[in-house]
Amino acid sequence: MKHIIILGDGMADHAVGRLGGRTLLQHADTPYMDLLARRGRTGRLMTIPQGFHPGSEVANTAILGYDLNRVYEGRGPLEAASIGYDMQPEDTAFRCNVITLHDDRILTHNGGNLSTEHGDELMRYLDERLGNDSVRFITGIQYRHLLVVKRASKHVVCAPPHDHPGEPWRPLLVQSEPGWEDRREDVLGHDGRPTGEHRLTGRETAELLNRLIIDSQQILADHPYNRDRTARGERPANSIWPWGGGYRPSMQTLMQLYPQVRTGSVISAVDLIRGIGRYAGLDVVKVPGATGLADTNYEGKAAAAIDALRRQDFVYLHLEASDEAGHDGDLELKLRTIEYLDRRIVEPVYNEVKHWAEPVCIAVLPDHPTPVELRTHVAEPVPFLVWHPGIEPDAVQQYDEVACASGAYGLLHLEQFMKTLMQIH
Ligand SMILES: [Zn+2]
Repeated sequence: MKHIIILGDGMADHAVGRLGGRTLLQHADTPYMDLLARRGRTGRLMTIPQGFHPGSEVANTAILGYDLNRVYEGRGPLEAASIGYDMQPEDTAFRCNVITLHDDRILTHNGGNLSTEHGDELMRYLDERLGNDSVRFITGIQYRHLLVVKRASKHVVCAPPHDHPGEPWRPLLVQSEPGWEDRREDVLGHDGRPTGEHRLTGRETAELLNRLIIDSQQILADHPYNRDRTARGERPANSIWPWGGGYRPSMQTLMQLYPQVRTGSVISAVDLIRGIGRYAGLDVVKVPGATGLADTNYEGKAAAAIDALRRQDFVYLHLEASDEAGHDGDLELKLRTIEYLDRRIVEPVYNEVKHWAEPVCIAVLPDHPTPVELRTHVAEPVPFLVWHPGIEPDAVQQYDEVACASGAYGLLHLEQFMKTLMQIH
């Protein structure tokens, strides 16, 4: 049995007054997801472990079957994976924003909508002047980049800049985690054993990062891009801001965990999801025209998924558009993204694979709800469906939050979903 997970990011929702108290999945016209729910089995899944925020990186890691308490290393290492930077055991990767400071305050976390091209220019400029054997600035996308410091401690408190708009930046500088000021960790090798090298203490790491932040401000102020911006009265990208530091995740690949998965692919427009897939040992398939929005190349993504399934055992097909519509609070758009997922992804995948000699198991679910009336993620169970040739259906007749609560799988937690799916073979 081959497996495909079709993930509609943020697709689940709450009952909405304008829809007569129905959810969007109940209201939307989704004949193919309903067909698979009718012919398959359903349930609900809690995707956010206790103590974690309901982020997509957390939920998708759990859906892929990993214990977040063991593998989650923060945004930096995920950013590294999504860029394709191969972290070494001694590396500590920080997400490195280029932000705008004004009057000693954080004006924006995005450097005045910095473009990738200009971001790359600034990162190279910083790397030439501040980089060395143990400090590297690596270009990512737009204002989101990577700072890799060899043998730094991850036990520092960094302020995510998007959480602090308008606040004075100096009190937000990096500090050691309490208790780690003078502690020195061993560097662990690929085999999990000490390499004989040691990391900086929490205090030394905080001092190093704060020096880089302050030095970056002088260097960036002099860059021609920022001089032009300032002269035109536009927001300059005038400081780095590292956060989300962590070590190379010690994630086993899906191939190590499940012998029936010999090879697999992840298909997503979102860097973070690609990064998680890479750590899970999946090939990253890039689809031209995949935007992460409702205008994405649905047909191209469905075709790429079918193509990967022909050759491989496992595909993780991620569609971001519903989440974006939820964050925008756009009810009509979110309904449309759900219907697009149904007609332009689920339909072609199902109609292609249903007759294959080697059977394919299809699962459909969101990673978390992004309710249009809240415009942010919530940590609540999501409905899922599972179909494969020969499955004995449960009584559920349609795919939505309410119907799936009566599904045969009941309420699953975290990595139980992947384990359940992989038992189908
Ligand atoms: Zn998400």
